Amino acid sequence: MATHPNLPIRQLPPDVAAQIAAGEVVERPASVVKELLENSLDAGAARIAISVRQGGVAEISVADDGCGIPAAEVPLAFQRHATSKLLTAADLSTVSTLGFRGEALPSIAAVSRLTITTRPPDAPAGQRCELRYGALTAAAALGCPAGTTIRVQELFGNLPARRGFLRSAAAETARIQEVVTRSALAWPEVRFSLTADGRPIVDTPGSGRLTEAILAIYGADIAARMLPLSHDADNPSAGNLSDSNLSVSNLSVGDLSINGYASAPEISRHNRSGLTLLVNRRWIYDRSLHYAIDQAYHGLLPERRYPIAVINIALPPQRVDVNSHPAKSEVRFRQQPNLFSAVQRAVRDALIAHAPAQPVSRRMTPAAADFPAAPAAGAALSAPGADPAAPPPEHLQLPSALPSEIVPLRQTLESLRVVGQIRQTYIVAEGDGGMFLIDQHAAHECIVYDRIRKQWADRERIAQPLLAPAPAELTYAQHDTLQQYSALLTAAGYDLEPFGGNAWLLRAVPPQLAAASSDPVQSLLELLDAVALEQVVMEREDALAATLACHSSVRAGKTLSYAEMTALVSQLRETPQPHRCPHGRPTVIHFTEYQLEREFGRR
Ligand code: ADP
Ligand code: MG
Repeated sequence: MATHPNLPIRQLPPDVAAQIAAGEVVERPASVVKELLENSLDAGAARIAISVRQGGVAEISVADDGCGIPAAEVPLAFQRHATSKLLTAADLSTVSTLGFRGEALPSIAAVSRLTITTRPPDAPAGQRCELRYGALTAAAALGCPAGTTIRVQELFGNLPARRGFLRSAAAETARIQEVVTRSALAWPEVRFSLTADGRPIVDTPGSGRLTEAILAIYGADIAARMLPLSHDADNPSAGNLSDSNLSVSNLSVGDLSINGYASAPEISRHNRSGLTLLVNRRWIYDRSLHYAIDQAYHGLLPERRYPIAVINIALPPQRVDVNSHPAKSEVRFRQQPNLFSAVQRAVRDALIAHAPAQPVSRRMTPAAADFPAAPAAGAALSAPGADPAAPPPEHLQLPSALPSEIVPLRQTLESLRVVGQIRQTYIVAEGDGGMFLIDQHAAHECIVYDRIRKQWADRERIAQPLLAPAPAELTYAQHDTLQQYSALLTAAGYDLEPFGGNAWLLRAVPPQLAAASSDPVQSLLELLDAVALEQVVMEREDALAATLACHSSVRAGKTLSYAEMTALVSQLRETPQPHRCPHGRPTVIHFTEYQLEREFGRR
């Protein structure tokens, strides 16, 4: 262990203290860009132009057309804890600007050569100051456009060790691009441009429309597949962040509102780089919210695939503590128990409202032989043994339909005309945009699952007594499962009485099960075995509901009448999640007209 000479306690010289503070604020070039952008946004800029050289190490320049700094105040801006954004400690709890600590400029200046040129719009002349590693080296009045330009050169020139931590120029540029991208998505009314070594890499229109910012950043293919987060499809302003007070959002729970866009399940990424989570327009990282969003895509995306989304959460400033993290990138929520479920619901609703029926694989002819077994995107979730190295299912590619042709599944189900049944397993139907196959078991599972969840939510217990109570001899594993689930099984309609050892007396069963199975004991044993497997991948309650639904649903191999098939389709339309059964298998598969024509050589 290193020893140090025993020195008396004293205050660090200001330049040393500034370097230490800078370590917290200025970790790498991207953190400089982030702080300078925040200052420009706080200054009310409508246009921010950023240019960097060699990953920002050689030069970072940020120019804005914001409010500028009066000449006399410029040196003050480089003092530690000097800020124009707070007066008292109490203001901290209601802070609505991105900056508030007065640390960024002195910290950046302490580790670089910095030049600032600034002029408030109403000032006759501007001011230019140069600092070298924190010390003011030149100051002069000059004519310049209104706004502020800050140029940072030789970053970490006085801290070679810090430079050693930086990655390649390309990697640092990528981080800078990420920072600019997020800000541009958070502030669609501001025009952002970023050039790296003279090459333009970000350029947003600043029109105020989030869709246009998304288009500029992610391109037309992705922009066309972003779904607005909205509860009320009748309100066209849903998801439009242009409104300055952000209260146009359709999901408003108390004083919480959520809006933005989330990608349709047919596009995804292998990491979360496409997720922009904003709280009062501040980009944040929050594990629980990430989890909530993952859950919203549960069963729609394969494992380890992530959506692209811009989600803006607007809350009164008192409800968020933004002062809990040095880079201000994590926040603490106060009294927001419903925040996570509200975000999840907003995303899930958007997905369900807009997702079409699953398109059939484009490799149709060769895959036809194993078509019924082709795994669904979500199947991996319920199959612990699934091969993680297997290539993603084909339908993850962008579908061949043009975005304008994508019809939400609910709407499709409304248009369906049942044609018949094949292999006593699939319902064949015709509807807008082609032919549809419905897996009768998966569809019925969705319907029963929903019914069971509703009954539980309403605390409605319906039990069907058996004519004669039946003894059931359980294995140890089944016995164990039964004990874990006893309260839930009772709520579901089971009536079970200990009968000595591992034996139980079955007195009543849930009515759906009574209808589906002639042997209640056998069906209970199967249920216990299945639920024990399910709970590996699901919450206990979901596992039981899914298993009950599976065991109470019409099986493959049962002939259905025309009326039964039509009823199934219309009931499926009413379920909250008609796309997939609780195990993640698709309920409906779509053969587009285009595909049929192509396969028949008409195209
Ligand atoms: P903070 O943003 O926490 O207040 P900074 O060190 O980042 O602290 O900036 C100090 C002050 O300098 C700000 O409070 C603001 O008054 C002024 N300032 C910095 N950048 C700009 C800018 N681009 N336009 C106008 N004023 C600025
Ligand atoms: Mg700042």
